Amino acid sequence: ANQVETHGFQTEVKQLLQLMIHSLYSNKEIFLRELVSNAADAADKLRFKALSDDSLYENDGELRVRVSCDKENNTVTISDNGIGMNQQDVIEHLGTIAKSGTAEFFSKLSGDQAADSQLIGQFGVGFYSAFIVADKVTVRTRKAGDDASNGVEWVSAGEGEFTTAKIDKSTRGTDIILHLKEEEKEYADDWRLKSIVTKYSDHISVSVEMLTPEVPAVEAVAEVTDAEGNVTSPAVEAKDAVPALWEAVNKATALWTREKSEVSDDEYKEFYKHVSHDFGDPLLWEHNKVEGKTEYTSLLYVPTKAPFDMYNREKQHGLKLFVQRVFIMDDAEQFMPTYLRFVKGLLDSNDLPLNVSREILQDNKITQAIRKGCTKRVLKMLEKLGKKDAEKYQGFWDEFGQVLKEGPAEDHANKEQIAGLLRFASTNEDTATQNVSLASYIERMKEGQNKIYYVVADSFEAAKNSPHLEVFRKKGIEVLLMSDRIDEWLVSHLTEFDGKQLQSVTRGGLDLGNMDDAETKEAQEKLEKEYDSVVKRIKDSLAGKAKDVKLSQRLTDSPACIVADENDMSSQMAKLMASVGQ
Ligand code: ADP
Ligand code: MG
Repeated sequence: ANQVETHGFQTEVKQLLQLMIHSLYSNKEIFLRELVSNAADAADKLRFKALSDDSLYENDGELRVRVSCDKENNTVTISDNGIGMNQQDVIEHLGTIAKSGTAEFFSKLSGDQAADSQLIGQFGVGFYSAFIVADKVTVRTRKAGDDASNGVEWVSAGEGEFTTAKIDKSTRGTDIILHLKEEEKEYADDWRLKSIVTKYSDHISVSVEMLTPEVPAVEAVAEVTDAEGNVTSPAVEAKDAVPALWEAVNKATALWTREKSEVSDDEYKEFYKHVSHDFGDPLLWEHNKVEGKTEYTSLLYVPTKAPFDMYNREKQHGLKLFVQRVFIMDDAEQFMPTYLRFVKGLLDSNDLPLNVSREILQDNKITQAIRKGCTKRVLKMLEKLGKKDAEKYQGFWDEFGQVLKEGPAEDHANKEQIAGLLRFASTNEDTATQNVSLASYIERMKEGQNKIYYVVADSFEAAKNSPHLEVFRKKGIEVLLMSDRIDEWLVSHLTEFDGKQLQSVTRGGLDLGNMDDAETKEAQEKLEKEYDSVVKRIKDSLAGKAKDVKLSQRLTDSPACIVADENDMSSQMAKLMASVGQ
């Protein structure tokens, strides 16, 4: 016999398994969704590879997933004839977590079961969810194109370790055999499995098959009549036995090729979980067929929750790319700008070649056209949400607002539209909630006010209590309170909105436009004369430290404040530069 090797799980896998078993008890049936989703991905991957090497089909091009159970032995088996795995793949994919955001996920766990189960749902457990219902899992797999003798068997009880052994496997692909826990026996039932498949996996584009019950043969029976000739028992025709047959239990058409009106919200939601590997529902989505010069279908989703590593600009993101319904690649980042990296979904192009690579996508007219179209769609979808449902939009903003603030610097063409989506805290409500749009600020502008005023500080408290605000508060002029790391960057690229200039209250001379009446100006001149010598003395004692000292009317309570020159770096930006060693 072949040697059995024992391997330890990566520490994170052990932790995840522990957590999962204790936190996902309320939604156990999702294990089937995850395993069917993986099987469908495996079919997609094979189809893609076979584009350049037909022999990988091994004369079996009918890709499908089969789900079956054995009541006596308490097992459920999910079997696919997709790409399969070799020994190295198995150890890597079923022994570690390669997902981005893993470190952040583990650092956020609190030990509180309710809170952690929420987090784990967000993180997603994929293959390991098999252990929610199984106390032993056997995976038998063989990679497409490999010899039958290069099959691998992986076995684990979901504790600290797993074993691998070389096996003979004549058919390519993967069988996953779940040995159900005693208390989860109910899943070894065809009706139960079928209902779960239809609930969660109806949208899967490869066919998911289950065995129809076999029908025994029927023998012919002659008609029976009584003495008067009345039929007391009718004749029965002979019928051959019908063996159990594999039959598709899902629609097995690519969901995005269907008409919008024929797809239900629940189907869109389940499909989202399949393409995004997210456990939660999406916040909103848009499904569009674009015809004309470039032809493509896009299905774009905005998640409800931000992933754990959202602020990592390097993180893998992008859309799932199909060309004429054939899966090509995951995370095609060329179709979405970085500031919309939270968008998930897919793109099916009719114009790109089937052998398209990341390199080809990079500098491609079709890519650019699609990217432009998809960007517009997302901005429009968010704009609509902002108008229609302020509460839901606020939920979006709280999760993804920080990322969207990268937009004006990155995407000049859509700057104004992105600016319209931004939300800020302001002196209007004086709370840290970022819920003021530039448009609503403008609506509240004072008679004669022609600028949008803002202050940037290290924290909301610092912004709110900035001495620079005193005169604005006195005059009842609203000021945007900015304190996110990205804000200084944002305002250095977003200098106006709707024809109104954005003006920092800490910069240069305070020009309140037409709101400064002649009286104030006169008073200022008078004061300047009066305090001329005082100002001169302060200036002398600060020589080399301050560029200038000026008498100001911007303060009402504080005696003095520091102001940046109109063309100099703001104090906030100066700090930022210093912190990165500039
Ligand atoms: P994800 O699907 O998000 O990548 P999973 O935990 O569900 O994460 O699966 C981990 C990896 O294991 C997959 O990315 C894939 O490489 C491999 N895998 C799982 N199931 C199969 C399968 N049926 N056929 C081939 N590879 C698989
Ligand atoms: Mg998966």
